[in-house]
Amino acid sequence: MDLKYHRFLHIPERLWGLVDIAYNLWWSWHPEAKMLFKQLNRQAWDESIHNPVKMLRELPAETFDAALRNAKYLHHYDIVMARFKRMKSSRIGWFREHYPKLANYPIAYFSAEYGLQHSLPFYAGGLGFLAGDHVKECSDLGIPLVAVGFMYSDGYLHQHIRPEGWQDNIVEKLERDLAPISRVLNQDNSPIIIKIPFIDPTIYVTVWKVDVGTIPLYLLDTDIEINDQSVREISSRLYTGDKELRLRQEIVLGIGGTQLLNALGIKYSAMHLNEGHPAFAPLERIRERVEEGVNFNDASEIVRKTTIFTTHTPVPAGHDLFPFEMMDKYFHNYYNALGLDRGNLLQLGFHPLDPDAGFNMTAFAIRMSGYHNGVSKRHGEVAREMWQSLWHDIDIDKVPIDYITNGAHLPTWLNPKMEYLINTYLGPSCPHWMWEHDDPALWELIDEIPDEDLWRTHYLLKVKLINRIREHKRRKWMTDYADPMNVVAGGALLDPSALTIGFARRFSTYKRADLIFTDIERLKKIINNRWRPVQFIFAGKAHPNDDEGKRILQKVYNYAHAPEFGGRVAFIEDYGEQIAQYLVHGVDVWMNNPLPPLEASGTSGMKAGFNGIPHLSILDGWWPEAFNNRNGWAFGGEEVEGDRTIQDSNDLYEIIENKVVPLYYSSSREGIPLKWVKMMKECIKTVAPFFSARRMVKEYATRYYAPTLESVINEMKEDGVTTEVCNYGP
Ligand SMILES: *Cc1c(COP(=O)(O)O)cnc(C)c1O
Repeated sequence: MDLKYHRFLHIPERLWGLVDIAYNLWWSWHPEAKMLFKQLNRQAWDESIHNPVKMLRELPAETFDAALRNAKYLHHYDIVMARFKRMKSSRIGWFREHYPKLANYPIAYFSAEYGLQHSLPFYAGGLGFLAGDHVKECSDLGIPLVAVGFMYSDGYLHQHIRPEGWQDNIVEKLERDLAPISRVLNQDNSPIIIKIPFIDPTIYVTVWKVDVGTIPLYLLDTDIEINDQSVREISSRLYTGDKELRLRQEIVLGIGGTQLLNALGIKYSAMHLNEGHPAFAPLERIRERVEEGVNFNDASEIVRKTTIFTTHTPVPAGHDLFPFEMMDKYFHNYYNALGLDRGNLLQLGFHPLDPDAGFNMTAFAIRMSGYHNGVSKRHGEVAREMWQSLWHDIDIDKVPIDYITNGAHLPTWLNPKMEYLINTYLGPSCPHWMWEHDDPALWELIDEIPDEDLWRTHYLLKVKLINRIREHKRRKWMTDYADPMNVVAGGALLDPSALTIGFARRFSTYKRADLIFTDIERLKKIINNRWRPVQFIFAGKAHPNDDEGKRILQKVYNYAHAPEFGGRVAFIEDYGEQIAQYLVHGVDVWMNNPLPPLEASGTSGMKAGFNGIPHLSILDGWWPEAFNNRNGWAFGGEEVEGDRTIQDSNDLYEIIENKVVPLYYSSSREGIPLKWVKMMKECIKTVAPFFSARRMVKEYATRYYAPTLESVINEMKEDGVTTEVCNYGP
């Protein structure tokens, strides 16, 4: 018997498949699998906060015995299990069909964060969800990926807002035993422990695993007894403000992660670095070759040809910079192991325009990789400008940084009710629409959906969102005697019939969450219109060390308090995956107004777009590629000298007053705003196929993964190596 069932002996063997599914996040993007848990006990499901492992552990045996007697449940169970097994053993998929010779050559994907599902708090924001969606999509497409990341044990950083609007952070430890992760074991069932080579002082790492469909995600954890206390804390939390701790984290991720893949016998052929944090991974790959006798230059040539680096932000604070002395402290033995002296290695992290600044992880990642890309067309331009100096004497348009625009995982972010509706009208002529959802032609059928049906579904989701918010606040009011102001600020007075604009993301300064509050009198008129009211829902966390972000949050929160807005500005605490789902399904408009050109892509607007929620956004990130005048609104495309707050906020007010409000409250038939629904349809048609993770991952696969793997295979042929077995590890 597999060890993992030992903890679930209260579940009859006939239902052990539930345990298998609980440990594979595949369930989270398959509503029929989610139903298996929900149907066991709806309340327990909610109380577990949608963590099936916790729920299965805690439910009494009687619940499962009752399920055994329920023929309907068993029938549903058998269908889901059959699908699950088919997925697990799948030897088909888009990648295999198109690149049958390459499907056995794994690609190692490294990221410091993964946003996958609520029960795994290994993310801070957009970068994490991008990585999570990438991995899910690789599973759907049959791409042979192996992912590496961190097990952050202090993962939940809950946001609590004080009455005066200041953000406090409450750490909730992840209970490893109740999370859907399992320990990676040696053959004798002892936990695997890896030593990070040549790094002083020594760091040991243990490893957990979560299955994401067919893709294994390995999670590094330094919290083991053999380590010193300070080492144990390396993997406690994501993105600390402590530079040295951060360097240690990046050593663990890059070097430890690469060692881990070796220890598991995973013979990957290419590496994909999601942002600069894991950039020591290719260095470790080089060191291994140097150890085999290859010289540094030849080794780095081989590694570079098979390394892909995706940069994700033009914001300076997003690029780690480590003082050289700090590098020395950890790497002094490593320099020798590479056959380099100190200067040669540190030079790889110079920024040519500021070589004394320190070791720049992005510059390093670019030098270590053969393929580099930004994450939208606009960001490609910005990144070429930012990093032009790495290539001397080269024209800016020749700088070899390309772009692949981000996408979001449609099955994760499309609401099941919306999916059901779409299926009713697309299904008959395109039974496999979900499978081919990056084909724009099939989305033309969206026009077949009767306006009233689309509107009704949307309205239902909006009511669901607002009910959820109000119910939460009601409970706080009842059980915690919450301050009435806090109850109002949290959304107790929200009204489903009012035009609802959503803004939810991290409260980084450049995102300008407070832009709409630039002219309070004007905003009051918009919000408090007796016949055409507008309400705003805000959510998001500021980084724990970002006082400026916290001040912006406080400002927004205080407006949510203010009687002058009549409860029509709400701030929802503790933004995370779950609240994000409610919001991108249920608001009427998704708003985004970062300071251009600092938004590399943005993905939350895509998630909203899948659900027919038009985007009201400044022309930055992905929006210039998507906006067509019929699927939302745009402003701020031009360059502005100096402070652009006034101009941008004026544009925003003007659009809301003259375009959004009139369209939403336009003459309607039986309460259905037909012109609005037309825009909703246009929005789904233009966003779903092009801004899905499917389109994105196919681009990575065809433009980067496949050529890389092909060159590896060709070289192996030249060397007389003919067979390679795909090994995903345990
Ligand atoms: C998608 C998502 C983000 C990304 O937001 P953007 O500002 O659009 O990049 C952040 N947080 C959560 C929880 C998300 O789901």
